[in-house]
Amino acid sequence: MNLYLNGLPYGYELQRVCQMFFFGEKVLPQPEGPQDTQESPHLGVAKIGGELRAWLYDGEQTLRRCPAPEAGRPTEERLAVLLYGILSEYTGLRPSWGVLTGVRPIKQMVAALEDGMSEEAIKKRYQEDLLVSPQRLQLALDTARTELPILRKSTPDSFSLYVSIPFCPTRCAYCSFVSHSVGQAARLVPDYLDHLCQEIQVTAAIVRNLGLKLRAVYFGGGTPTTLSAEQLGRVMKTVEQEFDLSDLWEYTVEAGRPDTITKEKLETIRALAPGVRVSINPQTLSDQVLEAIGRRHTTSQLYWAMDLARSCGLENINMDLIAGLPTDSLEGFQASINGVLDLHPENITVHTLTVKRAANLTFQQAKDKLDLVGDMVNYARCQIGDKGYAPYYLYRQTGTLSSLENVGYAKPGCEGLYNVYIMDETHSILAVGAGASTKLRHPVTGKIERVYNYKYPYEYISQFSTVLERRERIRAFYQEAK
Ligand code: SF4
Repeated sequence: MNLYLNGLPYGYELQRVCQMFFFGEKVLPQPEGPQDTQESPHLGVAKIGGELRAWLYDGEQTLRRCPAPEAGRPTEERLAVLLYGILSEYTGLRPSWGVLTGVRPIKQMVAALEDGMSEEAIKKRYQEDLLVSPQRLQLALDTARTELPILRKSTPDSFSLYVSIPFCPTRCAYCSFVSHSVGQAARLVPDYLDHLCQEIQVTAAIVRNLGLKLRAVYFGGGTPTTLSAEQLGRVMKTVEQEFDLSDLWEYTVEAGRPDTITKEKLETIRALAPGVRVSINPQTLSDQVLEAIGRRHTTSQLYWAMDLARSCGLENINMDLIAGLPTDSLEGFQASINGVLDLHPENITVHTLTVKRAANLTFQQAKDKLDLVGDMVNYARCQIGDKGYAPYYLYRQTGTLSSLENVGYAKPGCEGLYNVYIMDETHSILAVGAGASTKLRHPVTGKIERVYNYKYPYEYISQFSTVLERRERIRAFYQEAK
């Protein structure tokens, strides 16, 4: 469907608002029109005299209007509200984040709390101006309250390190990350690790020179435990030798797939990073759903991996679940939540299924869960909250069922700090490896600059001299900031 902007400059944001009502279909912003044809259906916005107008034409016209405020953000917001009203009526949907479309709906709220805005004023703004539902507003406020002390810990010289291991045993149906299955890419792994260790060394030398303090290390991917214990140990030792870990607050290793976990790997991780936080991710506790999403592991392997992790002395475990997976049901998802709670992990992250064009899962396949997914995430929130966990980070993605969110819950004191820092963009994240993107945060202005690495391991290896050249931007960025 076309969205005609008639000279108004808010195409990107308004398109995203409309897109929430048309899962898997495209809403295309067009600068002008339609003038003399009544294209059906189409959406349009215009400013005529002192009035803003938005309409939907589908055989007949639904028109909403309001007085025009001063140009800029308020105008964009009011047009979004007009379109939201029209499309709610047209589709019967009421996306619960209202006209908020961004990845970080908490960020503005945290800033408002820090600026001393009262909760009453925040509630009014989110519910009345932005149409956020009372449930989402409460979730956002609870998350912001847990986040605040974590954010305040960070100092201008703090940074976190992300180490990318972009390999997985198989590719999940919903995955759009750079994750080469080891079957295909096994021959690249040794060479990849040689280059990765070199990039770690070069990055650490720059950091030493700048006097920055490393607060959180995060091994992600992919699935880092796809590597052998020896390979993983080698990369972790390189981090330990090259970086000063005396100011470190947290060390996380994703051991996402239970079928990649062995006693030797967990012992290696624990020996090299005492107090480590580990992710062991079931996604669902239904074998039939696991098969449908191509995970190639079973629920009993998950239970076995959890027992093993506890017997190896791992005391901070995160478990991920996904609401809205193909073939799952509300009852099945509820059983997964209850089953995970019975395992008493310190963190539980509840994702809502996101469909990406690069993934094997199609919008069509995901569509039948649209009606269920809201009940799924609300059930998760109530059950997990009742067991003493609090939400501590939250983000959204484009293409998520019902435009819902991903939420990290933690027992008090067990929050994954890295997750908060990357989502809030509190401090720089220096990322190494293929597919990794470094985010530099200006210590005074907060301005963000990104430095990208090559996406695929073979490019990363073959273009490695450029990878190293780009590292120099870290040094220059901080020197310019002085
Ligand atoms: S485990 Fe994660 S990174 Fe690997 S294929 Fe599945 S979704 Fe992608």
